[in-house]
Amino acid sequence: MTKRLKAQALIFFGPPGAGKGTQARAVAVEFGIPHISTGDMLREAVRAQTPLGLAARARMESGELVADEIVSGVAAERIARPDCKDGFILDGFPRTVGQARFLDELLKEQGRGQPLVIYLRVDSEVLAQRLGGRRTCPICGHVYNMYFSPPLRDEVCDIDGAPLVRRADDNEEAIRHRLASYCAMTRPLIDYYRERGLLYDVDGDRTPEEVGGNVIALVTQEEDDRLPVQSGNRKATS
Ligand code: AMP
Repeated sequence: MTKRLKAQALIFFGPPGAGKGTQARAVAVEFGIPHISTGDMLREAVRAQTPLGLAARARMESGELVADEIVSGVAAERIARPDCKDGFILDGFPRTVGQARFLDELLKEQGRGQPLVIYLRVDSEVLAQRLGGRRTCPICGHVYNMYFSPPLRDEVCDIDGAPLVRRADDNEEAIRHRLASYCAMTRPLIDYYRERGLLYDVDGDRTPEEVGGNVIALVTQEEDDRLPVQSGNRKATS
C-alpha cells in the first residue's frame, strides 16, 4: 500500500495558539512537502528589514492582521516555487474571506483541486495559556511552553542551551488583539469552508501526539499500488 495526501493544498486553520505550526510541521516532514507559514515569512522579513517587513511590522507587533494584498502576494509567490509542485501546507493563511477567495482562484488556475482544511478547535482559556507561556529557541526553533512543556532549566533550551525568546506579539495586549482579529476576521472561514464540504474538525485540546495522530489519519489516503495514481504526494509504507 502507498500513502498519499488527500489534497495538494492542506490548510491548517484555527485560533492563534491552536497548535497549527506544530501539526503543520509534523505533516510536512511525514510527506516531504513544504510548510508555508505566512507568520514565519513575515517575521523573517521584519528581521531582515525588507520593504515587506517594514510594511508589516507595526501591525504584527500590535496583533492586527496585515493587509490582504500584502499577505496574498507573499503566499502566491511562495506557492509558485518548484518545491510546491506536488503539494504544500498552509499555516496561518488564509485568515480572511478575501484571502480564501484569492486562494480558491489560485488553486483553480493551477489545476490543483480543492484544499483540505484541518480546523483545530481549542478552548479559549487554554489558548491564552498556550500563547502567554510560549517560548522559542532562537537557534534550533524548538517551541516550549512554560505551563505545559517547560525546559529543564528556566528559560534555556534543553537542546543547545540558548536563552529562550518570547515572540514580540506574545504579550498580553497583542494576544488580546490577535484573538479579537481571529473572532472578527478569521472565524467566518469556518462556515466558508464547511459549506463547501472541505472542513475537518479536530479536537486541539489533546496532547500534540494525540492531535497529530488524528490529523495524519484525516489527511492520508491509502492506495493500492497496483492501481494507477494520477498525481499527488506519495509515501511508501511497509
Ligand atoms: P502567526 O505566526 O501565524 O500567528 O502570525 C503572526 C502575525 O503575522 C499575525 O498576527 C498577523 O499580524 C500576521 N499574519 C500572518 N499571517 C497572516 C495572514 N494570513 N493575514 C494577515 N496577517 C497575517
